[in-house]
Amino acid sequence: MPEAPKETDPNLVAETNKKKLEFIEEITSNPDHIQQQVLSEILSRNAHVEYLTRHGLNGHTDRETFKKTMPVISYEDILPDINRIALGDTSPILCSHPISEFLTSSGTSAGERKMMPTIEEELGRRSLLYSLLMPVMSQFVPGLDKGKGMYFLFIKSETKTPGGLPARPVLTSYYKSSHFKERPYDPYTNYTSPNEAILCPDSYQSMYSQILCGLCLRTDVLRVGAVFASGFIRAIRFLEKHWSLLCHDIRTGTLNPLITDESVREAVMRILQPDPEKAEFVESECGKGSWQGIITRLWPNTKYVDVIVTGTMSQYIPTLDYYSNSLPLVCTMYASSECYFGVNLNPLCSPSDVSYTLIPTMAYFEFLPLHSNDDHELVDLANVKQGQDYELVVTTYAGLCRYRVGDVLRVAGFKNKSPHFNFICRKNVVLSIDSDKTDEVELQAAVRAAVTHLEPFGASLTEYTSYADTSGIPGHYVLYWELSHNSAIPPSVFEDCCLTMEESLSSVYRQNRAYEAIGPLEIRIVEGGTFDKLMDYAISLGASINQYKTPRCVKFAPIVDLLNSRLASSFFSPKCPKYAAV
Ligand code: AMP
Repeated sequence: MPEAPKETDPNLVAETNKKKLEFIEEITSNPDHIQQQVLSEILSRNAHVEYLTRHGLNGHTDRETFKKTMPVISYEDILPDINRIALGDTSPILCSHPISEFLTSSGTSAGERKMMPTIEEELGRRSLLYSLLMPVMSQFVPGLDKGKGMYFLFIKSETKTPGGLPARPVLTSYYKSSHFKERPYDPYTNYTSPNEAILCPDSYQSMYSQILCGLCLRTDVLRVGAVFASGFIRAIRFLEKHWSLLCHDIRTGTLNPLITDESVREAVMRILQPDPEKAEFVESECGKGSWQGIITRLWPNTKYVDVIVTGTMSQYIPTLDYYSNSLPLVCTMYASSECYFGVNLNPLCSPSDVSYTLIPTMAYFEFLPLHSNDDHELVDLANVKQGQDYELVVTTYAGLCRYRVGDVLRVAGFKNKSPHFNFICRKNVVLSIDSDKTDEVELQAAVRAAVTHLEPFGASLTEYTSYADTSGIPGHYVLYWELSHNSAIPPSVFEDCCLTMEESLSSVYRQNRAYEAIGPLEIRIVEGGTFDKLMDYAISLGASINQYKTPRCVKFAPIVDLLNSRLASSFFSPKCPKYAAV
């Protein structure tokens, strides 16, 4: 039997929302004072931990001594400490509270994963941030408590460190925690996916059963989403591949025998009923050839798509627009394994305007002006300047101290006295052959400019990555492109794409080209499905589907080999880009 609908007292929902919004008002009105309290709390409880003692903080809890004494660090600086904890040293090294587990962060170009020690109580902070999202959203879209969210959420199987601590991605940790599994009934965390399907470590079974339940409950669905845009699109692609099997299950009320996990079967069977009419409808929509607007066709009550499309994820906006008939794309939050940072208080804004207000109770935040390496230049949350770019530095309750997150943020404005930030990019993703350094944003802009040449052919870029090929002399930039189709596109068009990319890259790049320190840029067209294979490979190495982001630059030889093994054609820039020597 399907679950009986649960009733929620609308007054209670309204009252809870009001309290959460008041909380946001309060903390954004007084960020500096709260930050001072947070720092003092972190430093007093950690007064005797080895790391702070080693640097000579001597129990001080004030900002000034902290800033004078403690260095700004990167992951490599604390790697020896992290390794000791991983090996089983339980003495208070970074934090006075016991380390409960390691959160593995999805590395990008370098391939290696980071291991972030965390403590039990951080789960409470993450829950708090999640609890702010729907009260904010409900100000703009009323009635969301009257239906369900179809969210594709996944875990991955976890490992243990030699010392016996679990090591897993932050979302796996959260979904497996009682905060998620035993959440009290709340109309805003009422998902179409049963917990058992979300918690199934087999990605096929998890995806299949989540989509099946989403189809069964299709008219209840008011919002759809995943963590990142790429994960959501992967779900739609899965549906494209498997809809006839899914429709068979809906028609007959029986479940695909490939779903072997007993708890998943039981959970799905509580929702699945033989429904030939629904099966026929889904089949006719999926079989129509065009998948434009498939979201609104299959889930007609959907008000928005909840996925992160900021940063490199902006690449997916056209695809999401296509599938959703341009429903609002909503980016609700900004978070990482190190710390959950903030929320978008204006969630219906356009993706290019998304900004996140950092929640000052989550951690102590500092900001390093971009291109500065001087620790003395760090500014506090309340003192950042509008329009300026900063690298985010955090001091967390779990023991990270003045840790460079590696994200570049731009101050977009202020809510009360609290700044909100555009996510600009991850700082460390670069292509470099000589003195040139191309970051993710520059690369993306160049790709965007180049793909306009494909428009007349009705082709679009579905995925891309890059590689600094230094096997020849001089080295050159290689772009791997996967296209919606590449038939009937003359080679000269791809050559124009190469040149347009080069013209769009920095003057240092073009100067190097003029002096032949960099060879002509190359575009390698790969066969359809290559980037899915790349993702499967990353997942086989331990990345999680939720957190997987296509690396915009690859270095890891097996990944480069994989891309090269699926080459369809390759093109070079026919001439040197314009460069005005000054
Ligand atoms: P991970 O620790 O693997 O979950 O990755 C965290 C990183 O993902 C952050 O430091 C950001 O670079 C990126 N990220 C997280 N949330 C967002 C967001 N809302 N917009 C853009 N990038 C994000």
